[in-house]
Amino acid sequence: MKKMYDIMEEAEEVILHTYNRFPVVLERGDGVWLQDTEGKKYLDFGAGIAVFALGYHYPGYDDALKGQIDKLIHTSNLYYNEPMGEAAAKLVRASGMSRVFFTNSGTEAIEGAIKAARKYAWNKDGCTDHEIIAMNHSFHGRSVGALSVTGNPHYQEAFKPLMGGVRFADFNDLDSVKAQVTDKTCAIIMETVQGEGGIYPADREFLQGVKDICEEKDILLILDEIQCGMGRTGSMFAWQDYGVQPDIMTCAKALGCGVPVGAFVLNEKTAASSLVPGDHGTTYGGNPFACAAVSKVLDIFEQDKIVEHVREITPYLEQKLDELAERKQCIAGRRGKGLMQGLVIQGQPVGEAVKKALENGLIVISAGSDVLRLVPPLVITKEDVDEMIVRLEKSL
Ligand SMILES: *Cc1c(COP(=O)(O)O)cnc(C)c1O
Repeated sequence: MKKMYDIMEEAEEVILHTYNRFPVVLERGDGVWLQDTEGKKYLDFGAGIAVFALGYHYPGYDDALKGQIDKLIHTSNLYYNEPMGEAAAKLVRASGMSRVFFTNSGTEAIEGAIKAARKYAWNKDGCTDHEIIAMNHSFHGRSVGALSVTGNPHYQEAFKPLMGGVRFADFNDLDSVKAQVTDKTCAIIMETVQGEGGIYPADREFLQGVKDICEEKDILLILDEIQCGMGRTGSMFAWQDYGVQPDIMTCAKALGCGVPVGAFVLNEKTAASSLVPGDHGTTYGGNPFACAAVSKVLDIFEQDKIVEHVREITPYLEQKLDELAERKQCIAGRRGKGLMQGLVIQGQPVGEAVKKALENGLIVISAGSDVLRLVPPLVITKEDVDEMIVRLEKSL
């Protein structure tokens, strides 16, 4: 125990206190299991917040990274490197979109998407007062631009003034979006499945309706796939199941499966008339180490049919969760898509349930004020689902 408390204490003395962490020091991972410094094991249905899509030490992944470390891990964007082009080509192929800009995180992908949309509109009319419509209860990141389109006043309040020109509408309410459209609207941004806000998938009619508005008025549709993308919902990108392709898509989280990397991806129309040399940049973005990870991850997804596995295992997970909900009074309902599931918890704080689960060796996360979120590695088996249900049931 000494070691664990020493590590926690040391961190608390020098790390800026922006998180109330659980009293656990994680040390190693294996498959879908994590182990702390005391040797206690946890079944991981959080995946580092939807990051470890392949679990820990997936065959071939570590070697790909080690191989790149031995060659070169950084070049800057003044020069070419091979993994960057390879990773981008695979992302283009997986999305059917056109061009990729690699970032270091999700929030930076959002910043880039916002800049690309504003530049596209500026190219058309030269005006500098364009507006973006974003959704209430959305989450797009913590940097100021991304925070400005995040529909959560609690996150925004102390940091005002934020970026101007943002209007908010209600997710899954087409009329409320229409009411915010003006001649100045350059983009509509939303998560295809809202994550932090409480696991709300977009309704089909809603997403199609927004797409129709965008096409009619040449407004860009930005879909944030940072959490719901990369196979999690049973399609490589959640929008593919809706048949609604965005003009700009943002990715991060599972894109590198643990290596910090994000991207914004443009369709041809947007790429042809937005950011050009001098408009946007990053020192690290697209570096060969991060891109070797992306490249390998996309290879594994294709070769090992990860998305197909998600589609196969989803009905089992949903059935087991629904049965649990019937047994447990405190579960008011289930929402979600694929391996992005939320249980609505009533009569007890969701934080308590998450803490209890941790004590019982199960990692789950909360979302919104009352939702218990399950975003496991995409490689879970039926046995993992059964084990999760046993541990969760004990925790509620
Ligand atoms: C996590 C998340 C972000 C922010 O990504 P960071 O890498 O934490 O900056 C943005 N959008 C969505 C939907 C997310 O889930």
